[in-house]
Amino acid sequence: MVNTQKTSSDNESRYCLGIESTADDFGVGIVNFDGDILTNTVDSYVPMEGGIHPREAARHHAEVASKVLCRALTDANIKVRDLTCIAFSMGPGLGPCLRTGATVARALASYLQIPLVGVNHSIAHIEIGKLKTGAVDPVTLYVSGGNTMVTAFESKRYRVFGETLDIALGNCLDVFARHVGLKNQRGLPFGAAVEQLALKGKNFIPLPYVVKGMDLSLSGLLTAATMQLQRGNCTLEDVCYSLQEHAFSMVAEVTERALAHTEKKEVLLTGGVAANKRLQAMLEAIAEEHNVRFNVVPQKFATDNGAMIAWTGSLAYTYGIVTPIEESYVKLRWRVDKVDVPWMN
Ligand code: AMP
Ligand code: MG
Repeated sequence: MVNTQKTSSDNESRYCLGIESTADDFGVGIVNFDGDILTNTVDSYVPMEGGIHPREAARHHAEVASKVLCRALTDANIKVRDLTCIAFSMGPGLGPCLRTGATVARALASYLQIPLVGVNHSIAHIEIGKLKTGAVDPVTLYVSGGNTMVTAFESKRYRVFGETLDIALGNCLDVFARHVGLKNQRGLPFGAAVEQLALKGKNFIPLPYVVKGMDLSLSGLLTAATMQLQRGNCTLEDVCYSLQEHAFSMVAEVTERALAHTEKKEVLLTGGVAANKRLQAMLEAIAEEHNVRFNVVPQKFATDNGAMIAWTGSLAYTYGIVTPIEESYVKLRWRVDKVDVPWMN
């Protein structure tokens, strides 16, 4: 249900609680309708070994949900009765993880008898980036553990101008790091570990560079980088450096072409991989060349978080979007170009 008339009043005293649970992070954020973030709490599932196991991650989320919720309410210093609506990540993401967050959100909204708002996770990454940087209508490069896409607002929706044909950029870095035996250290994402090693790389090793039209492919690059190291004639630092140079150049190329096509005046870098300084530098150079403003989401809001869901939920609710409980099933492959964004019109 969409009502394009803005219906808000007294935004400061209206609060939205957002629940994020698409993958390894269970996050709860609370914002007021002016975009002030009162709290942004998260508890992340860290696998003993290997990648994210969806059912184990979901079990983690169920175990920590009440603790994270209580912490968020205490931090924000508000009572549940003060909440105006409950937002949750409705997709895209891992089924068991999404369903756990949705169950918590439904229970809260039903108990408090307040509206539920299903939020598209990818759009939330764009909206938190805009809120925190002041960007208004950017070409966005959204790169994370599960997503890699270049989007911009056009004809009433965020359109996908280019995307990965196989794995996401963050996933490429994570799988590479695990294959080469980097240890999963709490607090240091695999992508950040690759970034640190890449700083010490000196030799550029040619690897597959695959851009097809406006889309790109990273799986061949991942295999080639891993095999290069197994051959034993180059250092881990050189491979990390070369892997980053190839992968980041690919996403930068697609972003640059989207910028030239749309003639937007801003670029926004968002998602977990946005924390990477080398990627930031590449995009900044492109923005400079095109004489447009470069924006990068602050690190705190780069990875999956509840505040971005709360903020996007408040935008949607302000424009009359609510999700009836009986229609609140999760959407594992929910694309950004399927979602109405009346607040952008
Ligand atoms: P998200 O899926 O948005 O929660 O982001 C998590 C992804 O961001 C993982 O793939 C991480 O390895 C990646 N990541 C986090 N920090 C960095 C960094 N400094 N450089 C590259 N990737 C990173
Ligand atoms: Mg995550």
